[in-house]
Amino acid sequence: MKMICNSVFVMTTLSVLFLTGCGSSPKSSDSRLKVLTSTTFLADITQNIAGERVQVDTLLPIGMDPHAYQAAPADVARIAESNLLILNGLDYELFIAPLLDAARAGGEGLVIEATAGLNPRSTERNANGAESGKGAGQEARDPHMWLDPNLVITYVDNIRAGLIEADPDGARIYQANADAYIVRLRELDAWIVEQTGTIPAERRLLVTNHEALGYFAERYGFEIVDTIIASLSSEAGTSAQALAAVIDEIKASGAPAIFLGEVENADLANQIAEETGVKVVDDLYLESLSAGAPAATYIDMMRHNVSRIVDALK
Ligand SMILES: [Zn+2]
Repeated sequence: MKMICNSVFVMTTLSVLFLTGCGSSPKSSDSRLKVLTSTTFLADITQNIAGERVQVDTLLPIGMDPHAYQAAPADVARIAESNLLILNGLDYELFIAPLLDAARAGGEGLVIEATAGLNPRSTERNANGAESGKGAGQEARDPHMWLDPNLVITYVDNIRAGLIEADPDGARIYQANADAYIVRLRELDAWIVEQTGTIPAERRLLVTNHEALGYFAERYGFEIVDTIIASLSSEAGTSAQALAAVIDEIKASGAPAIFLGEVENADLANQIAEETGVKVVDDLYLESLSAGAPAATYIDMMRHNVSRIVDALK
């Protein structure tokens, strides 16, 4: 499962499509709308908009890296039984295409992409590590938009629209909840601006394991010095030559730390830290919430990540 960057499937060009087939009604005694999201942070965002009116489940369990996810046979049934499936989109759910094909025969439901309508950044940072040859000449769209809360406002708009389409009677509730949640996202953004503002300009330098913090860096004024893996996916590999280049970049820039998601393998980061003396912060929550603290909700996840970044850089 290494060829993450160059895979395409038809879903990415569609913001909305219908699954058709038989068996339209939810099967459990709970008659509420059944909403399934791909990831845990999407489930939390959706629950905030849906409230008690909707049962929200997540396809991937807590702690699972979507870049590395291998679909399970039971996933087809879970998708078929859902009334609304919410994906991040932008090739983040590379596992979903065959599941959707299979589920199409057994259920009907709406599928939406939370990033629909947003303009993704594409990887061009390969110029930096071009000698690695990885993904050369290919343009991959960066799916990690949720790491900028301003972009999550569009997620909320899309999810609210999907909920209203699947359940028009709940429109007022979804609208009110979405409005309230957007206020909280704006507060979160203001808090991040304030917190990151305490980091001296010359230390606003990020080195990450894979290219996860591009939108975050753009919004809050950080420079991405380099990534250990020159890929938008944590599942890609790297070469000794590319590693040496990362070490040179860290030394030349004076970047104080390397940041990883807690689901990522820290071996390479630790190896680089030994050679450069930088700190390794390996407990960011980038792709999944945690079961309890520190990242039980999307907003908590962002607050935790920002606190860790600010602590390491200021
Ligand atoms: Zn990622």
